Amino acid sequence: MDYKNLKQNDETVYKLILKEQGRQARELEMIASENYVSPAVMEAMASLLTNKYSEGYPGKRYYGGNQVIDDVETLAIERAKRLFGADHVNVQPLSGSPANAAVYMAFLKPGDKVLGLKLDHGGHLSHGHPVNFSGMLYNFVQYGVDSKTGRIDMDEVEEIAKKEKPKMIVAGYSAYSREIEWERFKTIADKVGAYTFADIAHTAGLIAAGEMDSPVGIFDIITTTTHKTLRGPRGAVIMCKEEYAAQVNKAVFPGMQGGPHDHITAAKAVAFGEALKPEFKVYAAQVIKNAKTLAAEFAEKGYRVISGGTDNHLMVVDMTNKGLSGKEAEAVLDRIGISVSRSTVPNDPNPPMNPSGVRFGTPALTTRGMKEEEVKRIAGWIEAAIENRENIEVLDSIKNEVEELCEAFPVPGIHNS
Ligand SMILES: *Cc1c(COP(=O)(O)O)cnc(C)c1O
Repeated sequence: MDYKNLKQNDETVYKLILKEQGRQARELEMIASENYVSPAVMEAMASLLTNKYSEGYPGKRYYGGNQVIDDVETLAIERAKRLFGADHVNVQPLSGSPANAAVYMAFLKPGDKVLGLKLDHGGHLSHGHPVNFSGMLYNFVQYGVDSKTGRIDMDEVEEIAKKEKPKMIVAGYSAYSREIEWERFKTIADKVGAYTFADIAHTAGLIAAGEMDSPVGIFDIITTTTHKTLRGPRGAVIMCKEEYAAQVNKAVFPGMQGGPHDHITAAKAVAFGEALKPEFKVYAAQVIKNAKTLAAEFAEKGYRVISGGTDNHLMVVDMTNKGLSGKEAEAVLDRIGISVSRSTVPNDPNPPMNPSGVRFGTPALTTRGMKEEEVKRIAGWIEAAIENRENIEVLDSIKNEVEELCEAFPVPGIHNS
């Protein structure tokens, strides 16, 4: 994109975008929830479809002039169905949290009991955090990961489910690096008469590519963001069995939202189209290979990787034995041009604003074309920066190496300048 009109009409915003473009081009993105969309997705997002209002659904709109928009939304739905093998898909949710809000609205009443993963064990805000709508409106009870293995203890899930009799069980997380036992969750839910709700926001791209186990066909309801491993625009979708289609649609609109963002719907369709191609499977497989390589490098360098490794695109690393907090590690890595996000570790003794761990992810590196060899170099830089965190010369020299690597692996659609 050349932004020539923006440059002419609003130089302030233009310059800010250029500055961020420079950061994205010259720094390594290792935040597990981030990625780079293709130029094609970017163009759809920036299209004139943003001018339209289309409350309702294809063929049933509350505004005129929606013939083309109906085709756009139907295309996005059809591609998503094909990609995930889902019966019914709603492509209107504006983002992951609103999608989850719509799911709760469709299946629960305020005060109903829901079983989800503890937040400091890898759950998401919208899975019952007290400061979030989910924790305010619904009665969340929690399961955790086993303190030795770092994995979800399914026997504990069953025990809590039998005791608490929740109306819904949530699986799918923001900072959990292992396969999820979808079948076992379903068996437990059936024993207590609970709905099964999978939130695959993080792993959707890996699941769509067939590189991880899918909850589709097992769970009642599935949500995902479209902008993480799936590599589409910011947004979300809800998938469900046909029998729940009407109540899910009604909860999204008019329950939670007004008009859908049609330019984003078009970009979702483009991203789903990309994910249906063979290249996407290669990308997803490489994301996992890169993450496994990174986890092995950390382990070899004496870091405590939660659960001892990873099956997906991310891992949480406890920084305690290296003598710094997650927040301090985040700042050191920022200094050398590597973006990460601090993270709690299971049963973290420290508060969420200054937790003990760091979450690392490989989707964005992989989209740039990086493979195991580059990941090993990056792991070496991370270790060197943490060991030499007081040494400005060392940090500067690593930062230069990071920039050189970034130049060799440009972000799709972003010119290094
Ligand atoms: C990222 C994430 C979301 C929410 O996404 P937003 O689009 O930021 O609202 C929901 N659930 C899980 C598990 C996530 O990781």
